[in-house]
Amino acid sequence: MPGLYVHFPFCASKCIYCDFYARVRKDWKPYVEALLQEIRDRADELSVPPTTLYFGGGTPSLLPPALLQQVAGACRTGFGVQDFDEFTVEVNPDDVTPAFAQALREIGVNRVSIGVQSFDDGQLRWMRRRHTAAQAEMACATLRRAGFDNLSLDLIFGFTGLDDGSWMASVERALALQPAHISCYQMMGRWADSDEERCRRQYRLLQQRLLASGFLQYEISNYALPGCESRHNSAYWSREPYLGFGAGAHSFDGCRIRSWNTPDIDAYIASRPFGTETLSDQEVYEEKLMLALRTTKGLSLSSLTPWERAQLAQKEPVLEYLSKTGNIFRDACSLRIPADGLFVSDGIIRELFPS
Ligand code: SF4
Repeated sequence: MPGLYVHFPFCASKCIYCDFYARVRKDWKPYVEALLQEIRDRADELSVPPTTLYFGGGTPSLLPPALLQQVAGACRTGFGVQDFDEFTVEVNPDDVTPAFAQALREIGVNRVSIGVQSFDDGQLRWMRRRHTAAQAEMACATLRRAGFDNLSLDLIFGFTGLDDGSWMASVERALALQPAHISCYQMMGRWADSDEERCRRQYRLLQQRLLASGFLQYEISNYALPGCESRHNSAYWSREPYLGFGAGAHSFDGCRIRSWNTPDIDAYIASRPFGTETLSDQEVYEEKLMLALRTTKGLSLSSLTPWERAQLAQKEPVLEYLSKTGNIFRDACSLRIPADGLFVSDGIIRELFPS
């Protein structure tokens, strides 16, 4: 089912590893005005009402709740939706006060994704996060007191200087907070640990620990208690349509047209420039493989067109090899990468791309 994404590209400071489109500035009001306009202008772009709404960033929790309320209201009115099945807001722990948590409830938010990243204060300072581990714990408690039971925590592994013991200590403190969902991302770029084997070990340790705690891994970086998978993000991987509002936000028509607003707050406020591309048959096929095989459900063969099935058939020797080596599980209906192989899934998937 379709989803709506709203991007709030504002942060109080920049974390060292971040490559999201986000700026340290506070001119929220003109930005929200532009958002409201975009939502109104594009309200006829979906033929089916959206079921999920996601406020991401940046740091949506920096904005006053009244502004968030206006944006949520515009989404409801514009798309004729009373209540979204899933309405997520990303928050930074230091923004979560009892009043803010209560305001989120009143806006209709029913899922909160908390950017924790680590429970080690030294690591948090190094990352230039603005909160401590204790603040992250407090944020969870505050959100729970406000009535939120669907909490997701974000963690990062595989960065310079992170040892297995300290990684698992963070995982344990995350579990102690009893979240419904955990997302764990590997550090990329300049601060990535160059020891690939250690990164892989940290990924495995995480998988084993979360599995033992009742979590199901449903995507490379995402784990949920049964029934608590993110519906919004799952729709991305199954190529459902979505509309993205705000500077740098992307949209997809569910078939082959992708579009994006220019990542520039001032240009967005002034005239909302955007780009668009129509995917070729081959690009659609590669995207299907890339998105579906990153999930533990895998690729349903019935989702492929006859042309795509023919492409896959040409890779039979590669598929045969990948199955024999345990890197792909296949049956009559689907292909999937087993949990052990997910850490290197990009490489496995690329082997299936047309030559
Ligand atoms: S708070 Fe999030 S979006 Fe902002 S700089 Fe840090 S990681 Fe990036």
